[in-house]
Amino acid sequence: MTDNPSSPALPLAPVLDILLANPRGFCAGVDRAIIIVEQALEKFGAPIYVRHEVVHNKFVVDVLRAKGAVFIEELDEIPTGSTVIFSAHGVSKAVRAEAEVRGLTVFDATCPLVTKVHIEVAKMRAAGMEIIMIGHKGHPEVEGTMGQIDDTKTGADAVESVPVGKGIYLVETPDDVASLTVMNPQKLAFVTQTTLSMDDAALVIHALKAKFPQINAPKSDDICYATQNRQDAIKIMAKDCDLVIIVGSPNSSNSNRLREVAENQGVEAYMIDNASFLKPEWLSGKHKIGVSAGASAPEILVKEVIEKLQTLGANQVQELQGVIESVVFQLPRNLTNAISTAKK
Ligand code: SF4
Repeated sequence: MTDNPSSPALPLAPVLDILLANPRGFCAGVDRAIIIVEQALEKFGAPIYVRHEVVHNKFVVDVLRAKGAVFIEELDEIPTGSTVIFSAHGVSKAVRAEAEVRGLTVFDATCPLVTKVHIEVAKMRAAGMEIIMIGHKGHPEVEGTMGQIDDTKTGADAVESVPVGKGIYLVETPDDVASLTVMNPQKLAFVTQTTLSMDDAALVIHALKAKFPQINAPKSDDICYATQNRQDAIKIMAKDCDLVIIVGSPNSSNSNRLREVAENQGVEAYMIDNASFLKPEWLSGKHKIGVSAGASAPEILVKEVIEKLQTLGANQVQELQGVIESVVFQLPRNLTNAISTAKK
């Protein structure tokens, strides 16, 4: 049989490939926070109380809960003398003081890069400055960082939504900057949440510098290395994609920002907690799907998303080259001391 040149050609099935962003997923601060909970459970046994989700990922929290971690929001929910872990997002000075008053044993999983911002805020305040924090209202990191200021010397109004601290103001957008008034524009500094969109933060910083030319910037960028690397990787990947899937929980700031970064590149983008949220119709007419994960999302969830995409017709998986991250943070000394004492 020969081909009939007059018969219509069969439509080719679209080739659907997957690009994997690099780096993606766990950062050093998340790794450390999870290890702290696991080691505390191993050393002291359940229950170990954890103030707030130790990292913003439902899968991680569920696994730790199954091992005996008890997640609470406020310290008065736990018995006096208990052991509590502070989440990677950090806490205010008021929370630390409350833990001390209640005789709690604290293992601090605050990411050292968040602690760095806390120290900056304390130094700036000690130098008599008012501080502007660029961040997202209601995020625990913002509450913890703004809560590093606990004096009332300036008399400046605290932000309504964050009732801790004085002399520190929260802004999210250039419009917030436009409506902001401070006591003394000559003695002003700013810090940022660690997980912001670099592009959005740059716009707010530009507005701050235009309005307050004397404003002091942090010594080094507060947006952390992991946030920057993951956003850069999305920008590189999104250029070649017509769909981007970010694995991350809805309350994960850095995962949300990754989805926005992809969208700002003009690519359709979704954030999903796990493979079960993937909708087959998203793939319709698409050729290349980019996949990444927020800093709190484990690789196992990425693997499951890839498997699901393959059952929906995706073929080849290509992992992109990216920055190699080698950051590792030490565990809190009081935890390592407790563990080594137990081994003796
Ligand atoms: S995203 Fe950045 S600041 Fe947050 S835990 Fe990870 S390394 Fe630390």
